[in-house]
Amino acid sequence: ASDSTAAATVDGSALAGRALAAAGTRHMFGVVGIPVTSLASRAAAAGVRFLAFRNEQSAGYAAAAYGFLTGSPGVLLTVSGPGCVHGLAGLSHATANAWPLLMVSGSCDQADTGRGDFQELDQIAATKPFAKLAVKATTIADIPRLVFQALAAAVSGRPGGCYLDIPSDVLHQTLAESEAAALIAAAAANSAAADPSPSKHKSLDEGIEKAADLLRRAERPLVVFGKGAAYARAEEAIRKLVDTTGIPFLPTPMGKGVVPDSHPLSATAARSLAIGQCDVALVVGARLNWLLHFGEPPKWSKDVKFILVDVSEEEIELRKPHVGIVGDAKRVIELINREIKDNPFCLAKSHPWVEAITKKAKDNVLKMEAQLAKDVVPFNFMTPLRIIRDAILAEGSPAPVVVSEGANTMDVGRAVLVQNEPRTRLDAGTWGTMGVGLGYCIAAAVAEPERLVVAVEGDSGFGFSAMEVETLVRYQLPVVVIVFNNNGVYGGDRRSPDEITGPYKDDPAPTSFVPAAGYHKMMEAFGGKGYLVETPDELKSALSESFRARKPAVINVIIDPYAAQMDSGRSLTDMIMEGFTPV
Ligand code: ADP
Repeated sequence: ASDSTAAATVDGSALAGRALAAAGTRHMFGVVGIPVTSLASRAAAAGVRFLAFRNEQSAGYAAAAYGFLTGSPGVLLTVSGPGCVHGLAGLSHATANAWPLLMVSGSCDQADTGRGDFQELDQIAATKPFAKLAVKATTIADIPRLVFQALAAAVSGRPGGCYLDIPSDVLHQTLAESEAAALIAAAAANSAAADPSPSKHKSLDEGIEKAADLLRRAERPLVVFGKGAAYARAEEAIRKLVDTTGIPFLPTPMGKGVVPDSHPLSATAARSLAIGQCDVALVVGARLNWLLHFGEPPKWSKDVKFILVDVSEEEIELRKPHVGIVGDAKRVIELINREIKDNPFCLAKSHPWVEAITKKAKDNVLKMEAQLAKDVVPFNFMTPLRIIRDAILAEGSPAPVVVSEGANTMDVGRAVLVQNEPRTRLDAGTWGTMGVGLGYCIAAAVAEPERLVVAVEGDSGFGFSAMEVETLVRYQLPVVVIVFNNNGVYGGDRRSPDEITGPYKDDPAPTSFVPAAGYHKMMEAFGGKGYLVETPDELKSALSESFRARKPAVINVIIDPYAAQMDSGRSLTDMIMEGFTPV
């Protein structure tokens, strides 16, 4: 027995699994196959739960969302060549959203590279445009160091995707047990020695003072926060800032919940007024990109002074704000709170700006509630969303994680669904990526086991990754997927007569799907619970039963394909917020 211990060897697959576990990885998402099948089971044996998907694209979206929800990189495992290419979807999505992710792919044998090996691809070149770091283990001894290095790079500075390539020959190499343990210990010690504290910016104190001063002197101040603030777990600090100063706030879609939507200073329902007229905007963990109209007129006042808080120095340089503070959102807002405490100020409820915002918000909410109160059958978007909103709110705390994608479904859902806890909304994000829903659901279910997961999906969004309902059943995850079935992208055939000509005029419209598709039956095919609903009572009963069961379910909600037909490209949410009456 002592002989066999002395001779015990560890191969590259086992070493990678053990290094991931030693670096704190708890979950890994992916699809196995040559040459990474053993890596998945070795990692699981070392304590890393492996969630086996049906397609790397969904697994990648899962890993991305997991990084956002937990603050630790979501790890994505793929095979070589085509598997790596499918994985690029998740890698790029993570980087675009500033979420930490580590993609690990097997690759072809180094000796056969360049002569047409099985699934051969230059995976470093393929991943580089989408990754903060792309590295390759050329020998087994590289693995522990690169695992720790890539995981650390994913969370450092602005979070994003990193890539680790492990060729099949390296996965099969072996070394002695004692050497493996020593390499992992050395990699761990090395990464612990690296200074984890963010670099000290000499301008920090000055920036904090300037920011507090600007807010104090502002006539129409606004706090805007995004998913970077949610990621930084800045909720307590931001809530305190809003409560002590009385400044109205506006979350971005995934910033929703950092301060509860139900808070009286929420400017969500007065968005146009708030951004159009504020004179100082403190923007925390949110880019002034398309989602915030680039911070420019006509949506924003041309004289608005921005105070930007972002962990990324490049972001501050790009936007050239009045005051830029490079740092962690939680820490910076805590410092601003401390600065304000020395010389406190608070906008009274009767302050004209606060009054204007709260009045506008109240009016818009009343208008929307009047629409929501109607039971419209066949369903429009509003009626089922109201029923879903109420069912989710009835769950109380911990609130369910809401996953949302689609065109009208996501737009209207953003206005109607209520987020009272941070990091409980996951949607198409910075890139407007469709197909993220099922992957997000699986990530949320394993990252937040105490929460129910409720996905509100357009039929098109659902279709991108619908096969993952099998994954939900296989792991028995508490996920209820609600499909808004309006027969296609935007809902059915919307072509004008001059578009319906030519040799293929009898083909279905590019936007249309099989009418009244039985999506609930896909779930039933795998042994999960399916519901087909067309009326308010049917929907209420499906929700109450499936929420209670906490088992995989698909609720197929038949929507009038002509509901919410718009005569312009404006988003339905904007229209709702401006008092527009949806069909
Ligand atoms: P949203 O889509 O909600 O507007 P964005 O993804 O555009 O949010 O912006 C998030 C920003 O948050 C990014 O610029 C990112 O660099 C930044 N960020 C990430 N982590 C932190 C952190 N810990 N503290 C401050 N900012 C952060």
